[in-house]
Amino acid sequence: MSRTFTHKTDESTLTTLCPRCLNAFRNTRGIRVRRADPGQIVKEPCTYCQTNFGYDYYIQPTSPKSTYFKKGRFDDESECA
Ligand SMILES: [Zn+2]
Repeated sequence: MSRTFTHKTDESTLTTLCPRCLNAFRNTRGIRVRRADPGQIVKEPCTYCQTNFGYDYYIQPTSPKSTYFKKGRFDDESECA
């Protein structure tokens, strides 16, 4: 493990997403997803499905009131289980 994320990010959540879960996030309203480290080449287990591997992303709400981590949202994504 050699992560070097030293900068503070208040509203962002660092999350590892595989391509499938990344798509799910990108298709969700009120969420902005961007690569935490564009130079990252080592994939890590996906935080959500914990099956596939992917890169680190920052997940940010695009509006202050958005509840982007609403519990149960991904329960509908049976394909991602
Ligand atoms: Zn995943």
